[in-house]
Amino acid sequence: MKKKIIVANWKLNGSIALLNDVLKPIANFVNSHEIYSKLIIALPFVYLYPAYNIVMDTKVIIGAQNVDIHPYGAFTGEISANMLNDIHIKFVIIGHSERRLYHKENNQLIAEKFKIVKNSGLIPILCIGETEKDHSLFMAKKICREQIDEIIHLLGEKAFNNTIIAYEPVWAIGSGKTPSSNFIKEVCDFIKVYILNKQNINENSFFIQYGGSVNEKNIQEICNISSIDGVLVGSASLLLDCFLKILTIVSKEYQKSFLNC
Ligand code: PEP
Repeated sequence: MKKKIIVANWKLNGSIALLNDVLKPIANFVNSHEIYSKLIIALPFVYLYPAYNIVMDTKVIIGAQNVDIHPYGAFTGEISANMLNDIHIKFVIIGHSERRLYHKENNQLIAEKFKIVKNSGLIPILCIGETEKDHSLFMAKKICREQIDEIIHLLGEKAFNNTIIAYEPVWAIGSGKTPSSNFIKEVCDFIKVYILNKQNINENSFFIQYGGSVNEKNIQEICNISSIDGVLVGSASLLLDCFLKILTIVSKEYQKSFLNC
């Protein structure tokens, strides 16, 4: 059975105090419980190395939230994939809707980021999904297809080998609204079939997550969606009690599917 993956995205939040008060207890929890999933916590750049040192002897993995398209050079303020590699960071979120919106990152730039991440031996966590307007026009699948196509166009038939896709409807992020389980299943099944038809890769070589207002109340239902290989949790991952509840439920639900296969 495919291992599930949980990604926590701290966004623009963090401090040394938060590493001690939230990250450390999470790492202790994960080390003393079997959660039947890989747990990746994506942090702002300045906390990556301190966080890596905190979790290095635990099962928690630290990831980045962004990367530049250049390997080095005169690009003040940017962080390269080589730098992430240098500090043992292997997973990078790219194409998050907040970067698409506030930093005007388009599909082409995101495909370039995907390329440098893969060429540097890192694993991209690619966020895709439709806006509220697209959703109201029933365009979720079309938007996801376009976001995927740009990457296949640049990287070819093995583009999605060993990668993670997070299906995150933009309207569900930070809004407290989530799509129905049927809708998540329909779109994630579509993404999987579309990629497998276009790519010369094995089904087990890429993972699909759902992200958007995942919390301790809806995680149980979301875990039951058979098409997803895990979840991406934003705001709820900063609240220790909530996140530990999420991990406890995930662990119970994924244990069931693990034992049933
Ligand atoms: C996210 O940051 O990608 C996200 C899904 O955030 P939230 O869980 O807060 O909606």
